[in-house]
Amino acid sequence: MDSFSKEKRSQIMSKIKSKNTTPELIVRRLLHKMGYRFRLHRTDLPGKPDIVLPRFKKVIFVNGCFWHGHSNCKKSQLPESNKKFWQDKISRNINRDAENIKKLIEMGWGVLTIWDCQTKKRGIENLEMLLDAFLKK
Ligand SMILES: [Zn+2]
Repeated sequence: MDSFSKEKRSQIMSKIKSKNTTPELIVRRLLHKMGYRFRLHRTDLPGKPDIVLPRFKKVIFVNGCFWHGHSNCKKSQLPESNKKFWQDKISRNINRDAENIKKLIEMGWGVLTIWDCQTKKRGIENLEMLLDAFLKK
């Protein structure tokens, strides 16, 4: 027997489903299609990059526009309530991201940041070009 109510279960399932369509997964699938092999979430690197291409010495972060404060992006608009709280939180994230990227570069890694809003279907060709340019650099 399912220990969850029907409503709760469908809520859980819809969450799982959306997890399978995360921007990160889109980038991973795209890289795979392009013939690249990679590792995930290397915890020994600053910022735990989402995707690591050891052979190219390159890492990719797939960032949520809101949490990582994508500048000039509609999705990163702060809520009107508790604005100060969100502002502080997000700017801490931005600073931390910048620190991690700096450390990675100092360690000799190439770093690319992909934003949520770049993984939408209509932008997928641009994304592929972006990845291609980054990895061939
Ligand atoms: Zn964005």
